[in-house]
Amino acid sequence: MLDDIFDHLQHLRDTPVWHPAPDVARTAFQHALPHGESDLSLAHDIFMREVLPYAAGNSHPGFMGWVHGGGTPVGMLAEMLAAGLNANLGGRNQMPVEVERQMVAWVRELFGFPETASGLLVTGTSMANFMGLLVARFAALGESSRPEGLTDGHRLTAYTSAGAHLSIAQALDMAGLGTAALRKIAVDEQHRMDVAALERAIAADRAAGLMPFFIAATAGTVDVGAIDPLEAIADLAQREQIWFHVDGAYAALGKMAPDIAPLLLGMERADSIAFDFHKWGQVPYDAGFLLVRDGELHRRTFSSPAAYLHRETRGLAGGSPWPCDFGPDLSRSFRALKTWFTLQVYGADKLGQVISHTCELARYLRGRIADTARLELLAPVALNIVCFRYLGADASGRALDDFSSDRLNAEILIAVQESGIAAPSGTHVKGRFAIRAAIVNHRTVAADIDALVDAVLATGAALEQGIHSKAEHGN
Ligand SMILES: *Cc1c(COP(=O)(O)O)cnc(C)c1O
Repeated sequence: MLDDIFDHLQHLRDTPVWHPAPDVARTAFQHALPHGESDLSLAHDIFMREVLPYAAGNSHPGFMGWVHGGGTPVGMLAEMLAAGLNANLGGRNQMPVEVERQMVAWVRELFGFPETASGLLVTGTSMANFMGLLVARFAALGESSRPEGLTDGHRLTAYTSAGAHLSIAQALDMAGLGTAALRKIAVDEQHRMDVAALERAIAADRAAGLMPFFIAATAGTVDVGAIDPLEAIADLAQREQIWFHVDGAYAALGKMAPDIAPLLLGMERADSIAFDFHKWGQVPYDAGFLLVRDGELHRRTFSSPAAYLHRETRGLAGGSPWPCDFGPDLSRSFRALKTWFTLQVYGADKLGQVISHTCELARYLRGRIADTARLELLAPVALNIVCFRYLGADASGRALDDFSSDRLNAEILIAVQESGIAAPSGTHVKGRFAIRAAIVNHRTVAADIDALVDAVLATGAALEQGIHSKAEHGN
């Protein structure tokens, strides 16, 4: 199994980025619950034949869709060790918990947080955003909100930018506050939150007798990679006494890159930061993180007082507080090990270089778009995400209208994905359909960017021909 998976990683370039699973692969899984035993080699064969070739492809250097990390063999091996050990990271007096505590200490150090800050590895930033919001809700409503629920919850209001991730609104929903309590603040030309508009929204809500309690700034928006003005938002949050949360899902780890870190100034003033090690950090899925400045508040949000008081000072039930006191999960996987291995083996500087390199590749792609008449950049390139489109023409050479252009680009995107050459994803920028390349994988090099550009141009030209000949034939 190890040989096969290493071969797979070593020869990624010889395979398509993505290939839709054929029906035979899907049907191979459709049979009744096996009651008897079968050979391990059979399960392995099925995996190699029907699963491995048809994954989404985010380990592949040509994968540029959404914001997916590439993973590493180091993380893979650590994951194997973690599974072999089968540690349950909910708590107890055991060394695996110390590994997670070391990770928390490293994260505190990286982000310049005090010793009293707490942290927890979670599934991903969606969960970390939700938990950050719950800590802020606890801070706003106080201890009684745990037994009594949201007696005053209908007055709480939260703020984020129009470019924020869906998981912020979802967090309000899941927290029982309702998505209508979230104000989506307008963004400027650089897709950053408009702080004057934020200030006005807060004032209006206060005037209406509401309780503004949570501002979620974004460091690296998912559609274009914009970073909200963190310093100005930190100032405002401080003046207004509102919780300052940063959704730094992918870009917070830019702190490891000397050229990106200055763009993140102000993040160190956050009350909580949510981010992922499985994106720019290259740790295999899943590895999200929540960092909270006030560790005591964090613990009081989640710890069950009964469980907490029954801890021992010695023996296997010692070592409080436990990770399970800082979140909703009691049983927890050993995510800390693959994360610790990744930092221990590569070091923060090397990971920072990978991050800088993905941004350099994004600038290279921006340059190729600028040099190509048939391509148009649709959003400024702040970090590693490039949104662009193919400029199609009709049979008489006139530029396509926006509606036809959107349709053509949506078709180009799917055709390029199906070609297996590259896998960008799509988004809308100011109402226009954009092909979006998010360069996250440490394996991606300039030749992969060239392959993407060539594939978009060739596919665009071919589809255009199709449109023209259809038009000629009166379809
Ligand atoms: C990816 C992302 C999320 C969600 O993170 P998951 O790890 O997928 O749950 C939230 N916010 C932003 C800005 C993201 O890029």
